[in-house]
Amino acid sequence: LSTRASAILSALDIPIDKELAGVYHGEWTGSGDLLESKCPTTGEVLARVRSASPEELHAALHKSREAYQVFRSIPAPKRGEILRQIRVALASKRDELGALVSLEMGKIRTEGVGEVQEFVDIADYAVGLSRMMNGRLVASERPGHSILEVPNPLGVVAVLSAFNFPVAVYGWNLALSLAAGNATLWKPSPSTPLCGIAVTKIVSGVLERNGVPGAVAGLVTGDKDVGAGIVESQDVDMVSFTGSEAVGRHVGKVVQSRFGKVLLELGGNNAVIVMPDADLSLAVPAVFFGAVGTAGQRCTSTRRLFLHRAIAPEFLSRLRALYASLLPGDPLAPSTLLGPLHTRAAVGVYSDAVARLQTVGAEILTGGARYDGAALGSPLDGGNFVQPTIAVPPTVDMGDAVWRTETFAPVLCVGVFDALEEAIAWNNGVPQGLSSSLWTRDLRNVGKWIGPAGSDAGIVNVNVGTSGAEIGAAFGGNKTTGWGRESGGDAWKQYVRWSACTINFSDEAPLAQGVQFPS
Ligand code: NAD
Repeated sequence: LSTRASAILSALDIPIDKELAGVYHGEWTGSGDLLESKCPTTGEVLARVRSASPEELHAALHKSREAYQVFRSIPAPKRGEILRQIRVALASKRDELGALVSLEMGKIRTEGVGEVQEFVDIADYAVGLSRMMNGRLVASERPGHSILEVPNPLGVVAVLSAFNFPVAVYGWNLALSLAAGNATLWKPSPSTPLCGIAVTKIVSGVLERNGVPGAVAGLVTGDKDVGAGIVESQDVDMVSFTGSEAVGRHVGKVVQSRFGKVLLELGGNNAVIVMPDADLSLAVPAVFFGAVGTAGQRCTSTRRLFLHRAIAPEFLSRLRALYASLLPGDPLAPSTLLGPLHTRAAVGVYSDAVARLQTVGAEILTGGARYDGAALGSPLDGGNFVQPTIAVPPTVDMGDAVWRTETFAPVLCVGVFDALEEAIAWNNGVPQGLSSSLWTRDLRNVGKWIGPAGSDAGIVNVNVGTSGAEIGAAFGGNKTTGWGRESGGDAWKQYVRWSACTINFSDEAPLAQGVQFPS
């Protein structure tokens, strides 16, 4: 293993050059298929991880249920104290864990550290929440009666997560789930098992120090077989799934068919609209970050850009200048802005998307190819580096695959409009509904954009790019993005089971609606 990778793994107490156990449910095991963690920057194999065998998955589910039965009776503010300790433990390893995210996923270091910070932030939020998960007292129409709406812990929550946020998505779910009194079982992406192991070591250390069963925050690494086993299991009360639309569509149906709860956070196809009165000195860098940050591998990455005719030439020339200044590099190096795609397969997806654009006659303004490995030099020649691409398709038709498909790579399609209504129709004209952004100084435009005839996405920003959400508001998307909401806002209400409790304090037993049923 390279010195750099060894140092990052050692700092997180992950053994080097060994087959790692990829299952935790109070103790570490792992005897299933072998997963390989590969560095996207160099192609180096970072570790081999033994995933969950079917028996181990079964045992993990069983232990999760047992852990839930203990954890649900711990008062919520006491659970909050455990979350506070998890927050402290995570913050003390923020830089090391952020470096591992960068090493294993490929995003640049500041984004890796930012992702861990997001986990810290949501843990803070959930500490407060643990004293504020209030039910309600509702007025009854019957004398001497009260109605309570009571939130109780739900049971076992499984979190199936995508490769691109290998820490934060689990954090959003774990923090709310623990505050609510559930046991959580995590299956991370098969290509980021080290992040799963490192986070679970930190969290389980806190649980063990507090005498809480480790299976309150269990881990099962594995590929789609393990995922399918979780999704089908009656022992899982809620499946929180983050990933592609294709897999999410299947997961949603399977969970629904057994009447489980499901929370879906699927793909986005996010647009930015720039009006002629926009401040371009802010809008151009925001589009640049949105389209190129994380090498276009955020669910909220900017994929479609709609420019008002009056500013389109100037906007594109300024954006192209920023693209031209971009150099690919080692994501762990502080000066790097552009890291690799996560896998070799993603490079194929990128090349196919560019080929499709060329076939329909799109003008490729910049990019459109892989970086020449020889020019990058060793060890980056083993990495998955592609050129961020700006394309202008010949027509703006949201029925066309070049516009309506989420390509998980830095490919930005540009269209030119004359009226805001036209651009809003394009924004809404795709199946996905995650994030959207309007740049304007005119309050009338803002009113249209955030109102009933405005953007139909879950995230509707003004003078803020499509990516980089904070944890305070509920995060998620509409339409084929799955309608799920995680993180802040009212998202916690999905992690509990609600009971309506009507209590009669009187000496009579009247029926509601004045119904008489004489005996
Ligand atoms: P993916 O759908 O390939 O995998 C997601 C998870 O599902 C992985 O853990 C995978 O092992 C598991 N899985 C695969 N097949 C399964 C099956 N049959 N049953 C159960 N589980 C199965 O997604 P990915 O490539 O890792 O991630 C990229 C996608 O995730 C993009 O579409 C992106 O937009 C989306 N995403 C969405 C959000 C959001 O909040 N909306 C956030 C991050 C990523």
